Amino acid sequence: MTEKAQFEQAEERAVREAYGRDGHADCPRCQVQMHERAIGGGSFGLGYARQREWLLCPQCKRSVMFDLKRGTRN
Ligand SMILES: [Zn+2]
Repeated sequence: MTEKAQFEQAEERAVREAYGRDGHADCPRCQVQMHERAIGGGSFGLGYARQREWLLCPQCKRSVMFDLKRGTRN
């Protein structure tokens, strides 16, 4: 097994910023749109403001995992 590929911290931050701003993000290395997946129970009716997202690049397989805080609605 090889070591799992990961982004640099600056790249992760760029992905988070792009996703927070645009609702999607491109892989900073491959320039392709990353796939997004919600992690957790998948129930959206529980009233939790916290949502965990996982973005995966289909090409290099690098991923970014982070919590989305949806505290602001306007
Ligand atoms: Zn990539």
